[in-house]
Amino acid sequence: MSAKRILIVEDEKPIRDMVAFGLRRAGYEVAEAEDCREARARIADQRPDLMLVDWMLPDMSGLELTRTLKRDRDCEDIPIIMLTARAEEQDKVGGLEGGADDYMTKPFSPRELLARIQAVLRRAAPGGGEDVIEFDRLRLDDSSHRVSCGEEEIALGPTEYRLLHFFMTHTERVFTRGQLLDRVWGGNTYVEERTVDVHIRRLRKALEPSGLDRLVQTVRGSGYRFSNRDA
Ligand code: CA
Repeated sequence: MSAKRILIVEDEKPIRDMVAFGLRRAGYEVAEAEDCREARARIADQRPDLMLVDWMLPDMSGLELTRTLKRDRDCEDIPIIMLTARAEEQDKVGGLEGGADDYMTKPFSPRELLARIQAVLRRAAPGGGEDVIEFDRLRLDDSSHRVSCGEEEIALGPTEYRLLHFFMTHTERVFTRGQLLDRVWGGNTYVEERTVDVHIRRLRKALEPSGLDRLVQTVRGSGYRFSNRDA
């Protein structure tokens, strides 16, 4: 499994450096931004698995940024931990109502931050951290990378597997080819959008013997949806 990517949004460089150092040492990949504008650019480069967002930022408050991201369909499920120097309970409530997944008051120990990050990542794992995801008659076991329909095992290539895993954890929603590239292939891979169609075809072909290719629906002019309702 590749390293989880964490985006730190913090304007105070000493704190940013300290947090980045601790995270890198713990095996995380780290991206940094000093304000909200830069944070949006880093997210567009490559979607983080989790964000640490400072409350007080120069261009927009961290709370505002969190609210904006939680309203954005592409970003709504990025877990966010708010960092703040303010200890008031009122702020804590505000941060969590704004959509933050957890909250840390400065100064915090690197060890405590790591523990919170791990807990939030565990909760945010697709399928609520479950290894087995089921949808319709499909069963995907992420610990063994096996996909089956009843007793029949379905053989998939690695990309088709990731694509199916993404679909099974994001059912009933339309994704454009660009969004699928971003979410399944990762934001900084330079792959043509047609590549998505190739892998969609392979996935359908693999699901065809079980009659489950109908789950991978083409939404004309938009993209694809994974659904067991009629298109
Ligand atoms: Ca600050």
